[in-house]
Amino acid sequence: MLGNDYKGQVCSIAATLELIGERWSLLIIRDIFNGNRRFDQIQGSLGIARNVLTTRLQRLVDEGILERRPYSHNPPRQEYFLTEKGLDLWPVLIAMLGWGDRHLAGPEGPPMMIVHKGDCGGEVSDRGICERCGEVLEAREARAIRRVPAAAAA
Ligand SMILES: [Zn+2]
Repeated sequence: MLGNDYKGQVCSIAATLELIGERWSLLIIRDIFNGNRRFDQIQGSLGIARNVLTTRLQRLVDEGILERRPYSHNPPRQEYFLTEKGLDLWPVLIAMLGWGDRHLAGPEGPPMMIVHKGDCGGEVSDRGICERCGEVLEAREARAIRRVPAAAAA
């Protein structure tokens, strides 16, 4: 774990970055939002060193952003879930996704999109609003999918 990087900063952005600004932390949170709940799934998805992943997960649990729930007792295995505090990071993630889509996406366009779960399936804006039905969504009502390249969709 890093030290306090922003000593003297009386600011909630600095305080938030102390928790989620470490390398990999937000990507771990993104993966768990996307349903990768098990250590090996997250490790495989990110290609992160196991010791680093262990440290990051522990920190996020300690800070109340993630919680562990057992899915096997023999051998003992646990999955990671976002707490309410963790779920509250959803607007942060979709705002970052939207910014990256606008400013950093390559010629193929944005790689991921957020859609309204269930029958609607509408695309969700970076403010969490479904562009098809107009509903203001919460994290549980949306999911990320890989965008089909225009050429493949034709
Ligand atoms: Zn919708």
